[in-house]
Amino acid sequence: MPIKPDFDIAVLPGDGIGPEVMACAESVLRAVESCIGVRFHLDYQRAGAQHYLDTGSALPDSTLAACEKADAILFGAMGLPHVRGKDGTEIIPQLDLRFHFDLYAGVRPIRTFPGLPIPLNDPRASGIDIVLVRENTEGLFHARGRAEIHGAPGHETEVLDTMKISRQGTERVCDYAFRLAERRAATRRRPARVTNIDKANVFTSMAFWRRIFEATACRHPTVSADSAYVDAMALNLLMKPWTYDVMVTENMFGDILSDLMAGLAGGMGMAPSGDIGDRHGLFQPAHGTAPDIMGQGRANPTAMILSAAMMLQWLGERSGNTRLTDGAALMEKAIETVFADCQIRPFEFGGPHGSVEVTRAVINKIGAGDNS
Ligand code: ATP
Repeated sequence: MPIKPDFDIAVLPGDGIGPEVMACAESVLRAVESCIGVRFHLDYQRAGAQHYLDTGSALPDSTLAACEKADAILFGAMGLPHVRGKDGTEIIPQLDLRFHFDLYAGVRPIRTFPGLPIPLNDPRASGIDIVLVRENTEGLFHARGRAEIHGAPGHETEVLDTMKISRQGTERVCDYAFRLAERRAATRRRPARVTNIDKANVFTSMAFWRRIFEATACRHPTVSADSAYVDAMALNLLMKPWTYDVMVTENMFGDILSDLMAGLAGGMGMAPSGDIGDRHGLFQPAHGTAPDIMGQGRANPTAMILSAAMMLQWLGERSGNTRLTDGAALMEKAIETVFADCQIRPFEFGGPHGSVEVTRAVINKIGAGDNS
Protein backbone atom coordinates (compact mmCIF):
# COMPACT_ATOMS: atom_id res chain seq x y z
CA MET A 1 0.00 0.00 0.00
CA PRO A 2 1.44 3.45 -0.91
CA ILE A 3 2.34 5.63 2.07
CA LYS A 4 0.12 8.67 2.35
CA PRO A 5 2.22 11.86 1.91
CA ASP A 6 -0.33 14.55 2.79
CA PHE A 7 -2.91 15.00 5.46
CA ASP A 8 -6.11 17.04 5.84
CA ILE A 9 -6.40 18.66 9.23
CA ALA A 10 -9.62 20.37 10.39
CA VAL A 11 -8.48 23.34 12.48
CA LEU A 12 -10.83 24.85 15.07
CA PRO A 13 -9.06 27.74 16.86
CA GLY A 14 -12.12 28.76 18.93
CA ASP A 15 -12.18 31.49 21.57
CA GLY A 16 -9.91 33.37 23.96
CA ILE A 17 -6.29 32.26 23.67
CA GLY A 18 -7.34 29.42 21.33
CA PRO A 19 -6.53 31.35 18.10
CA GLU A 20 -3.31 32.71 19.65
CA VAL A 21 -1.85 29.31 20.50
CA MET A 22 -3.20 27.81 17.26
CA ALA A 23 -1.20 30.34 15.22
CA CYS A 24 1.91 29.12 17.10
CA ALA A 25 1.10 25.47 16.37
CA GLU A 26 0.57 26.24 12.69
CA SER A 27 3.99 27.93 12.43
CA VAL A 28 5.65 24.94 14.08
CA LEU A 29 3.79 22.49 11.82
CA ARG A 30 4.95 24.43 8.77
CA ALA A 31 8.56 24.18 10.00
CA VAL A 32 8.24 20.43 10.64
CA GLU A 33 6.55 19.81 7.31
CA SER A 34 9.60 20.84 5.33
CA CYS A 35 11.90 18.74 7.53
CA ILE A 36 9.95 15.49 7.21
CA GLY A 37 8.59 15.80 3.68
CA VAL A 38 4.85 15.64 4.28
CA ARG A 39 2.10 18.22 3.61
CA PHE A 40 -0.57 19.34 6.01
CA HIS A 41 -3.68 20.90 4.47
CA LEU A 42 -5.13 23.03 7.22
CA ASP A 43 -8.86 23.63 6.87
CA TYR A 44 -9.83 26.43 9.30
CA GLN A 45 -13.37 26.17 10.66
CA ARG A 46 -15.43 28.35 12.96
CA ALA A 47 -17.06 27.20 16.19
CA GLY A 48 -17.24 28.28 19.82
CA ALA A 49 -18.82 30.82 22.13
CA GLN A 50 -18.10 33.87 19.95
CA HIS A 51 -19.51 32.06 16.93
CA TYR A 52 -22.60 31.30 19.00
CA LEU A 53 -22.97 35.01 19.80
CA ASP A 54 -22.47 35.93 16.14
CA THR A 55 -24.69 33.31 14.53
CA GLY A 56 -26.70 31.46 17.21
CA SER A 57 -24.77 28.25 16.49
CA ALA A 58 -21.77 27.06 18.51
CA LEU A 59 -20.87 24.17 16.22
CA PRO A 60 -22.19 24.58 12.67
CA ASP A 61 -22.91 21.55 10.48
CA SER A 62 -20.25 22.72 8.02
CA THR A 63 -17.62 22.48 10.80
CA LEU A 64 -18.82 19.02 11.79
CA ALA A 65 -18.66 17.92 8.15
CA ALA A 66 -15.10 19.24 7.79
CA CYS A 67 -14.08 17.35 10.96
CA GLU A 68 -15.77 14.20 9.68
CA LYS A 69 -13.76 14.10 6.48
CA ALA A 70 -10.42 15.28 7.91
CA ASP A 71 -7.60 12.93 8.85
CA ALA A 72 -7.42 14.63 12.26
CA ILE A 73 -8.87 17.58 14.16
CA LEU A 74 -6.70 20.25 15.75
CA PHE A 75 -8.57 22.28 18.35
CA GLY A 76 -7.61 25.44 20.30
CA ALA A 77 -10.00 26.25 23.14
CA MET A 78 -13.68 27.19 23.32
CA GLY A 79 -16.03 28.88 25.77
CA LEU A 80 -16.27 32.33 27.33
CA PRO A 81 -17.52 32.88 30.89
CA HIS A 82 -20.13 35.48 29.85
CA VAL A 83 -21.62 33.36 27.06
CA ARG A 84 -24.07 30.87 28.51
CA GLY A 85 -27.03 28.77 27.51
CA LYS A 86 -30.50 29.02 29.06
CA ASP A 87 -29.63 26.55 31.84
CA GLY A 88 -26.66 28.65 32.95
CA THR A 89 -23.94 26.38 31.57
CA GLU A 90 -21.18 27.57 29.22
CA ILE A 91 -21.10 27.06 25.46
CA ILE A 92 -18.49 24.31 25.14
CA PRO A 93 -18.72 22.51 21.78
CA GLN A 94 -15.62 20.43 22.58
CA LEU A 95 -17.94 18.22 24.62
CA ASP A 96 -20.31 17.88 21.65
CA LEU A 97 -17.38 16.87 19.44
CA ARG A 98 -16.32 14.17 21.90
CA PHE A 99 -19.81 12.70 21.93
CA HIS A 100 -20.46 13.15 18.21
CA PHE A 101 -17.23 11.44 17.11
CA ASP A 102 -17.20 8.98 20.02
CA LEU A 103 -13.76 10.15 21.18
CA TYR A 104 -13.83 7.94 24.23
CA ALA A 105 -10.22 8.11 25.40
CA GLY A 106 -9.07 11.51 26.70
CA VAL A 107 -5.30 11.05 26.75
CA ARG A 108 -3.56 13.62 28.97
CA PRO A 109 0.20 13.22 29.34
CA ILE A 110 2.17 15.28 31.83
CA ARG A 111 5.93 15.46 32.02
CA THR A 112 8.42 17.86 33.47
CA PHE A 113 10.97 19.68 31.31
CA PRO A 114 14.53 20.28 32.56
CA GLY A 115 15.23 24.00 32.74
CA LEU A 116 11.73 24.98 33.87
CA PRO A 117 10.84 25.41 37.53
CA ILE A 118 8.24 23.06 38.99
CA PRO A 119 6.10 23.54 42.06
CA LEU A 120 7.13 20.35 43.92
CA ASN A 121 10.27 20.73 45.96
CA ASP A 122 11.56 17.17 45.65
CA PRO A 123 14.31 16.11 43.23
CA ARG A 124 12.23 13.10 42.14
CA ALA A 125 9.61 15.51 40.73
CA SER A 126 11.96 16.32 37.85
CA GLY A 127 11.24 12.82 36.52
CA ILE A 128 7.46 13.08 36.36
CA ASP A 129 6.23 11.32 33.21
CA ILE A 130 2.63 10.20 33.58
CA VAL A 131 -0.54 9.92 31.49
CA LEU A 132 -4.13 10.17 32.60
CA VAL A 133 -6.68 8.44 30.37
CA ARG A 134 -10.02 10.08 31.00
CA GLU A 135 -13.21 8.33 29.91
CA ASN A 136 -14.69 10.98 27.63
CA THR A 137 -18.18 9.93 26.58
CA GLU A 138 -20.12 8.94 29.69
CA GLY A 139 -19.56 9.10 33.47
CA LEU A 140 -21.04 12.18 35.12
CA PHE A 141 -20.75 14.16 31.87
CA HIS A 142 -23.44 11.87 30.44
CA ALA A 143 -25.85 14.06 32.43
CA ARG A 144 -25.06 17.14 30.31
CA GLY A 145 -28.32 18.30 28.75
CA ARG A 146 -30.25 15.52 30.53
CA ALA A 147 -30.71 16.94 34.03
CA GLU A 148 -33.81 15.79 35.89
CA ILE A 149 -35.34 18.99 37.21
CA HIS A 150 -38.02 18.89 39.88
CA GLY A 151 -40.23 21.92 40.47
CA ALA A 152 -41.54 24.66 38.22
CA PRO A 153 -39.13 26.90 36.26
CA GLY A 154 -37.82 29.54 38.66
CA HIS A 155 -39.01 27.48 41.65
CA GLU A 156 -36.89 24.34 41.23
CA THR A 157 -36.62 22.18 44.33
CA GLU A 158 -33.92 19.79 43.18
CA VAL A 159 -31.83 18.94 40.12
CA LEU A 160 -30.39 15.48 39.49
CA ASP A 161 -27.38 14.82 37.22
CA THR A 162 -26.92 11.07 36.75
CA MET A 163 -23.60 9.26 36.21
CA LYS A 164 -23.57 6.57 33.53
CA ILE A 165 -21.05 3.73 33.66
CA SER A 166 -21.55 1.14 30.91
CA ARG A 167 -19.71 -2.14 30.45
CA GLN A 168 -18.75 -1.35 26.86
CA GLY A 169 -17.70 2.23 27.64
CA THR A 170 -15.55 1.16 30.57
CA GLU A 171 -14.02 -1.85 28.87
CA ARG A 172 -12.84 0.10 25.85
CA VAL A 173 -11.24 2.94 27.81
CA CYS A 174 -9.55 0.55 30.26
CA ASP A 175 -8.29 -1.51 27.36
CA TYR A 176 -6.94 1.68 25.75
CA ALA A 177 -5.05 2.50 28.97
CA PHE A 178 -3.46 -0.96 29.12
CA ARG A 179 -2.41 -0.86 25.47
CA LEU A 180 -0.93 2.60 26.02
CA ALA A 181 1.04 1.31 29.02
CA GLU A 182 2.36 -1.58 26.90
CA ARG A 183 3.51 0.85 24.19
CA ARG A 184 5.15 3.16 26.74
CA ALA A 185 6.99 0.28 28.39
CA ALA A 186 8.52 -0.56 25.02
CA THR A 187 10.12 2.91 24.75
CA ARG A 188 10.83 3.69 28.41
CA ARG A 189 13.06 1.64 30.61
CA ARG A 190 10.51 0.93 33.29
CA PRO A 191 7.76 -1.63 33.84
CA ALA A 192 4.25 -0.89 32.60
CA ARG A 193 1.64 -0.01 35.17
CA VAL A 194 -1.99 1.13 35.02
CA THR A 195 -3.62 2.68 38.06
CA ASN A 196 -7.40 2.78 38.12
CA ILE A 197 -8.96 5.75 39.92
CA ASP A 198 -12.53 5.38 41.18
CA LYS A 199 -14.82 5.76 44.17
CA ALA A 200 -15.78 2.11 44.46
CA ASN A 201 -16.15 2.35 48.23
CA VAL A 202 -19.27 4.52 47.88
CA PHE A 203 -20.94 4.15 44.48
CA THR A 204 -22.35 0.97 42.95
CA SER A 205 -21.54 2.36 39.49
CA MET A 206 -17.90 2.75 40.52
CA ALA A 207 -17.74 -0.76 42.02
CA PHE A 208 -18.99 -1.95 38.62
CA TRP A 209 -16.29 0.16 36.91
CA ARG A 210 -13.63 -1.43 39.14
CA ARG A 211 -14.77 -4.98 38.34
CA ILE A 212 -14.48 -4.20 34.63
CA PHE A 213 -11.03 -2.64 35.14
CA GLU A 214 -9.86 -5.77 36.98
CA ALA A 215 -11.24 -8.10 34.29
CA THR A 216 -9.49 -6.00 31.62
CA ALA A 217 -6.24 -6.18 33.60
CA CYS A 218 -6.33 -9.99 33.37
CA ARG A 219 -6.12 -9.67 29.57
CA HIS A 220 -2.89 -7.63 29.87
CA PRO A 221 -0.67 -9.80 32.08
CA THR A 222 2.54 -7.89 31.36
CA VAL A 223 1.13 -4.69 32.88
CA SER A 224 0.82 -4.33 36.63
CA ALA A 225 -2.57 -3.03 37.71
CA ASP A 226 -3.77 -1.37 40.88
CA SER A 227 -6.66 0.80 42.03
CA ALA A 228 -7.05 3.82 44.28
CA TYR A 229 -9.92 6.00 45.42
CA VAL A 230 -10.06 9.41 43.79
CA ASP A 231 -9.64 11.33 47.06
CA ALA A 232 -6.49 9.36 47.92
CA MET A 233 -5.19 9.92 44.39
CA ALA A 234 -5.58 13.70 44.74
CA LEU A 235 -3.16 13.37 47.66
CA ASN A 236 -0.83 10.85 46.00
CA LEU A 237 -0.53 12.90 42.82
CA LEU A 238 0.79 15.73 44.94
CA MET A 239 2.97 13.63 47.27
CA LYS A 240 4.53 11.08 44.88
CA PRO A 241 3.48 11.64 41.26
CA TRP A 242 6.78 10.18 39.99
CA THR A 243 5.67 6.71 41.12
CA TYR A 244 2.82 6.50 38.56
CA ASP A 245 2.73 5.59 34.88
CA VAL A 246 -0.68 5.39 33.17
CA MET A 247 -3.91 6.13 35.04
CA VAL A 248 -7.49 5.60 33.93
CA THR A 249 -10.61 7.17 35.35
CA GLU A 250 -14.19 8.32 34.92
CA ASN A 251 -14.96 11.53 33.00
CA MET A 252 -15.53 14.00 35.86
CA PHE A 253 -12.66 12.69 38.01
CA GLY A 254 -10.43 12.96 34.93
CA ASP A 255 -11.54 16.54 34.33
CA ILE A 256 -10.50 17.55 37.83
CA LEU A 257 -7.33 15.48 38.20
CA SER A 258 -5.95 16.56 34.84
CA ASP A 259 -5.84 20.20 35.99
CA LEU A 260 -4.04 19.09 39.16
CA MET A 261 -1.58 17.16 37.00
CA ALA A 262 -0.97 20.20 34.77
CA GLY A 263 0.07 22.02 37.92
CA LEU A 264 2.78 19.40 38.51
CA ALA A 265 4.45 20.45 35.25
CA GLY A 266 4.12 24.17 36.01
CA GLY A 267 0.70 25.15 34.67
CA MET A 268 -2.05 24.62 32.11
CA GLY A 269 0.20 25.81 29.29
CA MET A 270 2.25 22.61 29.69
CA ALA A 271 -0.65 20.14 29.39
CA PRO A 272 -1.44 18.69 25.93
CA SER A 273 -4.20 16.20 25.17
CA GLY A 274 -5.66 13.91 22.54
CA ASP A 275 -9.30 12.82 22.42
CA ILE A 276 -9.16 9.50 20.63
CA GLY A 277 -11.85 7.28 19.17
CA ASP A 278 -11.73 4.29 16.87
CA ARG A 279 -12.19 6.46 13.74
CA HIS A 280 -11.28 10.02 14.72
CA GLY A 281 -8.73 11.90 16.79
CA LEU A 282 -8.97 15.44 18.14
CA PHE A 283 -5.93 17.15 19.66
CA GLN A 284 -6.13 20.15 21.95
CA PRO A 285 -4.34 21.73 24.89
CA ALA A 286 -5.96 20.68 28.17
CA HIS A 287 -6.41 24.33 29.09
CA GLY A 288 -9.44 26.51 28.47
CA THR A 289 -9.71 29.90 26.80
CA ALA A 290 -7.91 31.75 29.65
CA PRO A 291 -9.89 35.00 29.27
CA ASP A 292 -7.69 36.61 31.94
CA ILE A 293 -4.68 36.66 29.57
CA MET A 294 -6.30 36.66 26.12
CA GLY A 295 -5.14 39.23 23.59
CA GLN A 296 -1.91 39.95 25.49
CA GLY A 297 0.48 37.54 23.78
CA ARG A 298 1.22 36.00 27.18
CA ALA A 299 -0.18 32.49 26.59
CA ASN A 300 2.27 29.63 26.79
CA PRO A 301 1.86 27.79 23.45
CA THR A 302 3.69 24.65 24.64
CA ALA A 303 0.54 22.65 25.38
CA MET A 304 -0.85 23.46 21.93
CA ILE A 305 2.42 22.57 20.18
CA LEU A 306 2.71 19.33 22.16
CA SER A 307 -0.90 18.52 21.22
CA ALA A 308 0.02 18.97 17.55
CA ALA A 309 2.96 16.60 18.16
CA MET A 310 0.52 14.05 19.62
CA MET A 311 -1.53 14.44 16.45
CA LEU A 312 1.49 13.61 14.29
CA GLN A 313 2.27 10.58 16.46
CA TRP A 314 -1.32 9.33 16.12
CA LEU A 315 -1.45 9.99 12.37
CA GLY A 316 1.89 8.23 11.95
CA GLU A 317 0.72 5.15 13.82
CA ARG A 318 -2.53 5.01 11.83
CA SER A 319 -1.10 5.69 8.40
CA GLY A 320 2.14 3.75 8.76
CA ASN A 321 4.03 6.87 7.65
CA THR A 322 6.99 6.95 10.04
CA ARG A 323 7.90 10.45 8.88
CA LEU A 324 5.04 11.67 11.02
CA THR A 325 6.29 9.90 14.13
CA ASP A 326 9.72 11.37 13.34
CA GLY A 327 8.03 14.80 13.13
CA ALA A 328 6.38 14.30 16.51
CA ALA A 329 9.72 13.38 18.06
CA LEU A 330 11.35 16.41 16.40
CA MET A 331 8.76 18.76 17.90
CA GLU A 332 9.01 17.30 21.37
CA LYS A 333 12.80 17.31 21.31
CA ALA A 334 12.86 20.93 20.08
CA ILE A 335 10.67 21.99 23.02
CA GLU A 336 12.85 20.02 25.41
CA THR A 337 16.02 21.68 24.07
CA VAL A 338 14.55 25.18 24.15
CA PHE A 339 13.75 24.90 27.84
CA ALA A 340 16.91 22.97 28.73
CA ASP A 341 18.97 25.83 27.24
CA CYS A 342 17.38 28.14 29.85
CA GLN A 343 17.15 30.95 27.25
CA ILE A 344 13.36 30.87 27.19
CA ARG A 345 11.04 31.10 30.16
CA PRO A 346 7.31 31.64 29.44
CA PHE A 347 5.29 34.25 31.35
CA GLU A 348 3.45 31.34 32.94
CA PHE A 349 6.70 30.52 34.79
CA GLY A 350 7.34 34.10 35.81
CA GLY A 351 9.61 34.65 32.80
CA PRO A 352 9.60 37.40 30.15
CA HIS A 353 8.67 35.31 27.08
CA GLY A 354 5.33 35.31 25.33
CA SER A 355 3.77 33.04 22.73
CA VAL A 356 5.79 34.44 19.84
CA GLU A 357 9.19 34.10 21.55
CA VAL A 358 8.51 30.53 22.68
CA THR A 359 7.33 29.56 19.21
CA ARG A 360 10.23 31.24 17.45
CA ALA A 361 12.72 29.42 19.70
CA VAL A 362 11.06 26.05 18.97
CA ILE A 363 11.09 26.71 15.22
CA ASN A 364 14.75 27.71 15.35
CA LYS A 365 15.60 24.43 17.03
CA ILE A 366 13.62 22.46 14.46
CA GLY A 367 15.21 24.38 11.57
CA ALA A 368 18.71 23.98 12.97
CA GLY A 369 18.17 20.27 13.46
CA ASP A 370 19.81 21.12 16.78
CA ASN A 371 17.92 18.56 18.78
CA SER A 372 20.64 16.31 19.92
P1 ATP B 1 -11.95 25.21 31.10
O1 ATP B 1 -12.98 25.02 32.15
O2 ATP B 1 -12.47 25.72 29.79
O3 ATP B 1 -11.00 24.05 30.95
P2 ATP B 1 -10.55 26.64 33.06
O4 ATP B 1 -11.61 27.32 33.82
O5 ATP B 1 -9.94 25.38 33.60
O6 ATP B 1 -11.04 26.40 31.58
P3 ATP B 1 -8.29 27.92 31.88
O7 ATP B 1 -8.79 28.72 30.74
O8 ATP B 1 -7.63 26.64 31.55
O9 ATP B 1 -9.46 27.73 32.91
O10 ATP B 1 -7.34 28.81 32.75
C1 ATP B 1 -6.94 28.48 34.08
C2 ATP B 1 -5.74 29.33 34.46
O11 ATP B 1 -4.62 28.88 33.71
C3 ATP B 1 -5.92 30.80 34.13
O12 ATP B 1 -5.30 31.59 35.12
C4 ATP B 1 -5.21 30.96 32.79
O13 ATP B 1 -4.69 32.24 32.58
C5 ATP B 1 -4.10 29.94 32.92
N1 ATP B 1 -3.75 29.41 31.61
C6 ATP B 1 -4.50 28.54 30.87
N2 ATP B 1 -3.87 28.26 29.73
C7 ATP B 1 -2.71 28.96 29.74
C8 ATP B 1 -1.63 29.07 28.83
N3 ATP B 1 -1.61 28.40 27.65
N4 ATP B 1 -0.59 29.87 29.17
C9 ATP B 1 -0.58 30.53 30.32
N5 ATP B 1 -1.56 30.46 31.23
C10 ATP B 1 -2.63 29.68 30.95
